[in-house]
Amino acid sequence: MTDLLERLRERGWRLTAQRRIIAEVLSGDHVHYTADEVHAHAVERLPEISRATVYNTLGELVSIGEVLEVSTDGRAKRYDPNAHRPHQHLICSRCGTIRDVQPRGNPLADLPDDERFGFAVSQVEVTYRGLCPSCRG
Ligand SMILES: [Zn+2]
Ligand SMILES: [Zn+2]
Repeated sequence: MTDLLERLRERGWRLTAQRRIIAEVLSGDHVHYTADEVHAHAVERLPEISRATVYNTLGELVSIGEVLEVSTDGRAKRYDPNAHRPHQHLICSRCGTIRDVQPRGNPLADLPDDERFGFAVSQVEVTYRGLCPSCRG
């Protein structure tokens, strides 16, 4: 369980009503909303919250390392509160459902030395694609 709100409280992040709502929208497992989706959910609870506030707050959460920016489908970036647990993504190629998954082994270590071209490799992103149970019918 990802409790973004709890982590932000612990680190003493100043929680205004607007920031708290955004953190609440982003809390939970397998949450990967676009900025517009975060805004749409936030407005349900706090009608006056502006898109700019949502964008700025997301940018800040990314810069302090509590939320990950994920670009998975070449479309809008998604915001992932599961920032403290290394994971990869499983995506339905029909409906776009995203799951956090942890492959066995370590994808970063799996790249052989002779395929690294002298790079000091520090990150890896693996995307698994296929049809989710609903789309498989
Ligand atoms: Zn699907
Ligand atoms: Zn994720």
